[in-house]
Amino acid sequence: MSTITADKSFDVQAIRSEFPILEREMRNKPMVFLDSAASSQKPDAVVKAMDYYYQQQHANVHRGVYQLSQEATDAYEKARHLVQGFINAPSEKEVLFVRGTTEGINLVASSYGRKFLEEGDEVIISAMEHHSNIVPWQLICEQTGAKLRVIPVTDEGELIMEEYEQMLNERTKIVAVVHVSNTLGTINPVERIIELAHAKDIPVLLDGAQAIPHLKIDVQALDVDFYTFSGHKMFGPTGIGILYGKEKWLNAMPPYQGGGEMIETVSFEKTTFNELPHKFEAGTPDIAGAVGLGAAVEYMEKIGHETIQKHEHELLVYGTEAMSKIPGIRIIGTAEEKASVISFLLDGAHPYDVGTILDQMGIAVRTGHHCTQPLMDRYGIPGTVRASFAVYNTKEDIDRLVEGVKRAAKMLG
Ligand code: PMP
Repeated sequence: MSTITADKSFDVQAIRSEFPILEREMRNKPMVFLDSAASSQKPDAVVKAMDYYYQQQHANVHRGVYQLSQEATDAYEKARHLVQGFINAPSEKEVLFVRGTTEGINLVASSYGRKFLEEGDEVIISAMEHHSNIVPWQLICEQTGAKLRVIPVTDEGELIMEEYEQMLNERTKIVAVVHVSNTLGTINPVERIIELAHAKDIPVLLDGAQAIPHLKIDVQALDVDFYTFSGHKMFGPTGIGILYGKEKWLNAMPPYQGGGEMIETVSFEKTTFNELPHKFEAGTPDIAGAVGLGAAVEYMEKIGHETIQKHEHELLVYGTEAMSKIPGIRIIGTAEEKASVISFLLDGAHPYDVGTILDQMGIAVRTGHHCTQPLMDRYGIPGTVRASFAVYNTKEDIDRLVEGVKRAAKMLG
């Protein structure tokens, strides 16, 4: 694991004080929340921004000539502008509001797929994909006769890049891989993945759901064609997310959904479509969600990516070391480059039972297949126990986890 030195001036308690939920008790004990990979908690700033929007600014966007509607439109478009800066997108036209990562991927699979996939074409994904980056591609492959190819993973949880390189050919029409694995924590070598695909003029979609809360994303530096993520995993609200797409692709792709807002003119004979980004935003959007996401962007920028990464890396190193010493433990996912996830199994114990014992101690972890069933099959396991952290977690949280896992080992072993 690479070393990143901790930021000494970082005050985790000050961060925690912005998340009132972290003061709650669970099972009569102070809560330890270690399920941020499923959904992060929300700071005051995000909740207040949404509250203010609903109490003072709400009207429908883009349509009204009156001041309130213009204010709502400004709030919505300001959020788009904030996201554009956050991921360094060249243009706001390339930043689409969607419901989340799942919808972002479905949009590309459906729209790009209908336009560019034909019988015999190939779509490359990997063995560590979340179901939301498998099923949409299966659906479009079924409709078009294209085939899914899967990059295998090593026992440690890294992509086998030689196999990927060999898979790329003139029938490959798109590569869609996860940036950071939700189950293993692996940070994939996405720069190389993109470079190899682009050498053959193949576009790449990255599922950034687990990368966006932890890493600085620069879509121009990556030169990625599509990048999608969810607001709720980066301290923002549920129900809102982003699909970044290069303008050349978004212009070439047909609309995903039809309705208001995405049209220019409609007649029964012919409809013409609105410009980007509106062409892909049919209907009244989640305006408050966008406002909340904008506030989450400002929140993360206020802390700073470097600080977030240093603190989380310290937790990962500390946690991995402590957990590795527990007798009978097996850590699933030991890639060289990892982010904020420790997935594990205890000898002879079902993940669900471990999770239940931890819950009794006030510790929230996730158990199961984490929507990556093919990856579980690859390792021949039913699931894992997954502890995942965010910037608000502490070493004390990890100590409580270790204590809990030791107790579970004693009870179940
Ligand atoms: N991809 C990955 C890697 C994820 O972890 C998740 C959420 N668990 C998703 C996609 C789907 O995200 P959402 O449910 O927010 O659409």
